[in-house]
Amino acid sequence: MKSALGIAFLVLSSACTTTGGFNRSAAEQGVAQVLVSDDQEFQLGLQVHEQLKKENTKFSENAQVGIYVEQLAKKLIAQANKDRPGVTWQYYVIDDPATVNAFATPGGRIYVYTGLLLAAENEAEVVGVLGHELGHVVARHSARQLVAAKGLDVVAGMALGKDAGQIASLAAALTGKGAMLAYGRGMELEADEYGARYSSGIGYDPHGIASFFQKLAAKQGDPGIMVWLSTHPASSERVEKINAYITAAGLGGTNLGAAELKTIQKALGAK
Ligand code: ZN
Repeated sequence: MKSALGIAFLVLSSACTTTGGFNRSAAEQGVAQVLVSDDQEFQLGLQVHEQLKKENTKFSENAQVGIYVEQLAKKLIAQANKDRPGVTWQYYVIDDPATVNAFATPGGRIYVYTGLLLAAENEAEVVGVLGHELGHVVARHSARQLVAAKGLDVVAGMALGKDAGQIASLAAALTGKGAMLAYGRGMELEADEYGARYSSGIGYDPHGIASFFQKLAAKQGDPGIMVWLSTHPASSERVEKINAYITAAGLGGTNLGAAELKTIQKALGAK
């Protein structure tokens, strides 16, 4: 483990000293990979899940909705596995129609609220948001965030197995009333790009994530919507950046899946 840590410092220092053309994100992902192992990420995610259960989070028991989310998630996961193989992906639907939210935890657990399924205009928007959340996991954002929030020493101590209790306290830091720690702006934009790319990869209109943000921005002030917006500011700049990325990357895809989502919204009690 000590030599692994040496590599981490090496990668980090090259990220700090190299300028121009150097992929900082790739360097940070490398550091995160060395410092927080897949197994430790899995343990962190498990702790968060236990915490959600302790908080009496109500998971949906609607089989139709569960199957619906599963088939969308499976298609997206096939995309994500190409970028980061070996993740034990799991997905959960939280029964809370008044809250528009979705989040991912380290190790590959994806949570989507029924409120988000009800608020979306079409399937392309849902797929865009889920793809965004998968992107946070693929790019190891929580591990990168841990390094930023707790310092390299603490996370390195965790990597060396010096303090098993750290995993529990770090997991607690990741959940605040069930909401994930907010990621930085750069990580958010990176996740938006993953969302657009994965949507396109399975034939959906990649603009879904952008149109969802535009929709929420128009409804600012609604407390249920503010949950997602508190960690995902829906600025016009953000929407412009997503659209510019889609054009630059030449992403195609036309499926909107409006009728399919309508069926699920009816199953959730929408008129
Ligand atoms: Zn995000």
